[in-house]
Amino acid sequence: MNAVAPAITGFDAKALRGDFPALQQEVNGQPLIYLDNAATTQKPQAVIDALVNYYARDNSNVHRGAHALSDRATVAFENARNKVVQFINAGSSKEVLWTRGTTESINLVASSYARSVLKTGDRILVSAMEHHSNIVPWQLVAEACGAEVVPIPVSDAGELDIEAYKSLLDERVKLVAVGHVSNALGTVNPIKLIIDLAHSAGAKVLIDGAQGVPHFDVDVQALDCDFYAFSGHKMYGPTGTGVLYGKEALLEQMPPYHGGGEMIKTVSFEGTTFNDLPFKFEAGTPNIGGAVGLAAAVDYLQGLDRAALAAHERALMQYAHDKAAAFEGLKRIGCAKTIAGAFSFLLEGVHPADVGMLLDQQGIAVRTGDHCAQPIMKQFGIPGTVRASFALYNTFEDVDALFAGLEKAKTFLL
Ligand code: PMP
Repeated sequence: MNAVAPAITGFDAKALRGDFPALQQEVNGQPLIYLDNAATTQKPQAVIDALVNYYARDNSNVHRGAHALSDRATVAFENARNKVVQFINAGSSKEVLWTRGTTESINLVASSYARSVLKTGDRILVSAMEHHSNIVPWQLVAEACGAEVVPIPVSDAGELDIEAYKSLLDERVKLVAVGHVSNALGTVNPIKLIIDLAHSAGAKVLIDGAQGVPHFDVDVQALDCDFYAFSGHKMYGPTGTGVLYGKEALLEQMPPYHGGGEMIKTVSFEGTTFNDLPFKFEAGTPNIGGAVGLAAAVDYLQGLDRAALAAHERALMQYAHDKAAAFEGLKRIGCAKTIAGAFSFLLEGVHPADVGMLLDQQGIAVRTGDHCAQPIMKQFGIPGTVRASFALYNTFEDVDALFAGLEKAKTFLL
């Protein structure tokens, strides 16, 4: 049976493509089909304009307000923070820290929170499907503290084993770090359940939201997570921007992460006092233009019908699955009941890198490899996958082009 593209009302991905200049180009003589959104999304003109306007008019350093430009830059920077506060429903601006991205956000929690609380014999649970960014920082701190990083098992379908998780939750576990959505498999984890179970066992929880925020409305207070980390560049904002949400009481108790300007109140050789939240964790000149650009991305997303957008992305994913089921020799990697964003697969007998190269020759951009998730690739006994990942501007025609491209690739490779 042929897959039929459903009609989604209230959402016009084709029209929105016009907002993204990078999509209006040809690659290798073919119109670009961009399906590498889990790596980074393209940027709408509104974000590019916000960056250009900031650098063309307001560029200055922040929080040093002796002149008009510095005042303007400070207002723009703190307004951007407040926009993020509202976007994820944080309790206040004290709970939203700017970072360079998810990786730095997680390293901040590992170096500051975990390092200050972990003792010999303590445990950090991470799922077996995590991105390296949500494994290695914990390994570094565990080694320094005599603690242990323990993987939560993942089934062959790519779902977290909740029963195994429950049985791992004992008094040794001080922290649980789990991705909202797996970048390698697309699995959407039941994070509310994971958080509630961890809390009832007395552990704190960090959610790696790098692949969550681009696809879902996130309400950190409703989730009750202790930390939520995400990157601006995966949600239509600039690279080098990211956010760490943390509960105020925890952030208050945590020691500074980096030392330098901005994060202090007073400095003397007798002793230094630290600034209030959120500045205690923001040493040095921040990425002011990036924050302004990220705020423009939030505005852009909030200007859309988010429910219709989510329905569109779900329909794209379903359409890809239906096509995959009918495609001979294609094996899906990760078949969780709920998946979002990323669609991973292999063509029988073909190395994923070869598939990627042949798709690129047809103007189709996908990612191939281990997706910085080597442990789960090892569990599945594969070197990597081909990953197509969707964003708001992808259309059913893009999915058609992907499968037509795969047919062509097959004739070359098999
Ligand atoms: N976690 C996940 C699930 C990711 O997909 C990524 C990026 N691929 C990261 C963390 C790291 O994000 P960044 O490189 O923006 O810090």
